[in-house]
Amino acid sequence: MSYLSVNQLNKSYGPTSIFQDIDFTASEGEFVTLLGPSGCGKSTLLRCLAGLTPVDSGQVLLQGQDIVPLTPQKRSIGMVFQSYALFPNMTVERNVAFGLKMQKLAAADIQRRVGEVLELVELNDYAKRYPHQLSGGQCQRVALARSLVTRPRLLLLDEPLSALDARIRRHLRDQIRRIQKELNLTTLFVTHDQEEALTLSDRIVLMNKGKIVQNGNAESLYTQP
Ligand code: ADP
Ligand code: ADP
Repeated sequence: MSYLSVNQLNKSYGPTSIFQDIDFTASEGEFVTLLGPSGCGKSTLLRCLAGLTPVDSGQVLLQGQDIVPLTPQKRSIGMVFQSYALFPNMTVERNVAFGLKMQKLAAADIQRRVGEVLELVELNDYAKRYPHQLSGGQCQRVALARSLVTRPRLLLLDEPLSALDARIRRHLRDQIRRIQKELNLTTLFVTHDQEEALTLSDRIVLMNKGKIVQNGNAESLYTQP
């Protein structure tokens, strides 16, 4: 059985169908990219997997358990957004600690785990800073640390590089891939950028107009079935 198995997932907003009969799987530790043009439903699909928006029908099996009925907190899924979505009035370490405080972890454990993930994203020296004192790339690394600190079973990355300039984008791309491999973390990465998809992924799921049109490794994208 696959680590993640998305079966016949459907979503509409009112009369408008956003995606239809989405089927794909990911194995443990796999880096899967959802590639497709803007507006094809990628972001909505990730939000549905995280539980931030409800699906109309379908099943999402994570380690054999259907997570569709679960609240976002119970799903153990981390998500990073294009816009960072940090709390502006909290320091880096408090932003990262937030999820663990919600879980009522002991203060010493929180401090240790926050230190570990800040080290992972190479931001140890920035723990006491506020988001407005950081660059865009640094903010995104804080967002990544915040999503990793709860040790999620699945990491969802929604265009995390799109707001950054080219040099920073390459650096963060490499960093994401290194961390993902180090943690053997099953990851779904959403992008409309073909080069990003080709350089990062174990597998590419190609979406268009709410449907999956192709699914395979990078080479197979360019070979007609
Ligand atoms: P992508 O991430 O591929 O750019 P989205 O998932 O953001 O695509 O959007 C897919 C479609 O769903 C778009 O046409 C968008 O306008 C629509 N959409 C997204 N969110 C909502 C919403 N909350 N209500 C209605 N339509 C929405
Ligand atoms: P709230 O509704 O609690 O004010 P949000 O609107 O920020 O909070 O988030 C809605 C839900 O999504 C919350 O239950 C939260 O746990 C979950 N959530 C927020 N950020 C993430 C994330 N990075 N990964 C997974 N789930 C998240």
